[in-house]
Amino acid sequence: MATTTIAVATMKAAQVSCPGADFEMVEREIPEPGAGHVRIKVQACGVCHSDALTKDGSWPGIQYPRVPGHEVAGILDALGPGVSAWKKGQRVGVGWHGGHDNTCRECRRGDFRNCRNVKVCGVSYDGGYQQYMIAPAEALVPIPESLNDAEAAPLLCAGITTYNALRHSGAFPGDLVAVQGIGGLGHLGIQFASKFGYYVAAIGRGAETASLAEKLGASLYIDSQSTNAAEALQKLGGAQVILATAPSSKAMSGLVDGLGPNGKLMVIGAVFDPIEVAPVQLINGSRTIQGWAAGTPADSEDTLRFAEQSGVRPMIETYPLEKADEAYARMLSGKAEFRVVLTM
Ligand SMILES: [Zn+2]
Ligand SMILES: [Zn+2]
Repeated sequence: MATTTIAVATMKAAQVSCPGADFEMVEREIPEPGAGHVRIKVQACGVCHSDALTKDGSWPGIQYPRVPGHEVAGILDALGPGVSAWKKGQRVGVGWHGGHDNTCRECRRGDFRNCRNVKVCGVSYDGGYQQYMIAPAEALVPIPESLNDAEAAPLLCAGITTYNALRHSGAFPGDLVAVQGIGGLGHLGIQFASKFGYYVAAIGRGAETASLAEKLGASLYIDSQSTNAAEALQKLGGAQVILATAPSSKAMSGLVDGLGPNGKLMVIGAVFDPIEVAPVQLINGSRTIQGWAAGTPADSEDTLRFAEQSGVRPMIETYPLEKADEAYARMLSGKAEFRVVLTM
C-alpha cells in the first residue's frame, strides 16, 4: 500500500512555555505570513533586559508559549498578501516597536510610538529567538549594507533608545551632556552623544572604566564611587541633559542637582522603584525629568543610518541560538560587555 509522506519544513525556536520557565529549544513548523505580514529569516537577535518581561511574565496578557526577542536582524524571506513596499531578499530588522493599529487617536495624529494598541515584538507575538519569524510590515526597518546583522540587532532597541532620547533632549552641540552608566545602553549613549557634538561627561563606577569611556568618545569621566557626580557637574556649570541609563533610581535621584538651568534628566534605565526629588530641586532652575521609550521603525531607520555614517557600533558578545539560556543568564549577570546577541 502506498503511503504519502508530506515533508513539513521545520525550524528551531527558543521558547518560554510559561512565566518563569527556562528556555526550551523546540522544533516548530516554519510559519506562513498572513495579510500585511512578512516572514523574516532571522540572522541575529539581541538579548535585551526587557526580554525579562516575556521570560517572567511581568507584561500583562502574554500568551504562552512565547518566543522573546525584539532586536531582530535578518532577511525578508516571504511576503504576505498586500505587502508591496518590501522585497524578498531585503535585509530588515524589527525592534521593540512591533506594530501599531493606525486607527487609535495617537496613530491618527501620527504619534505611532504612543499607539494605544502598540504591539511589542517578542511580547505580543513571537520574536527573534528563532530561525524564522512573522512580523507586521509596518514594524520593518531596512538595514544598511555596511552594518552586519549582529551589530545592527542591538541598535534596534538599545541604540534607538539612546539615539532618540538624546536627539529629543533639547541639547545643542557644545552643551554639557552627562551619560550615567556605562553598560548596554550607556556605551551607545556616550558614542551618540559624542558624535552629536556634545561635551560628554561619562558617569561610571570605579576608576578602571575611565579609559573605555574616553575610547567611546567621552570628554571626561566622573567616577561616582570616589566623587559626588552632581557636584562635579555643577563645577562645570551644570548639565544641560543627563541621560540616565543605569537601572538605579537612587543614582538617578542623586543626579538631579547636577543639572544646570533648564536642564533635563532623561530617564531610559527601566526600573520600578521611585526616583526621589524635592519640588524645589525642580523649581530652582526650571529643571525637568522626562522618560523616553525607544521609537518608531522610522526612528530605528534613522538610528541605523546615523550609526553607518558616524561609525557608532555596539560592543557585543555572541552566542548561538541553542545557547539562549546561557546568553540570557549572561545578560542578566550585568557582566556582558556590553550587548549579548544570538546568532542563527
Ligand atoms: Zn530592549
Ligand atoms: Zn494606534
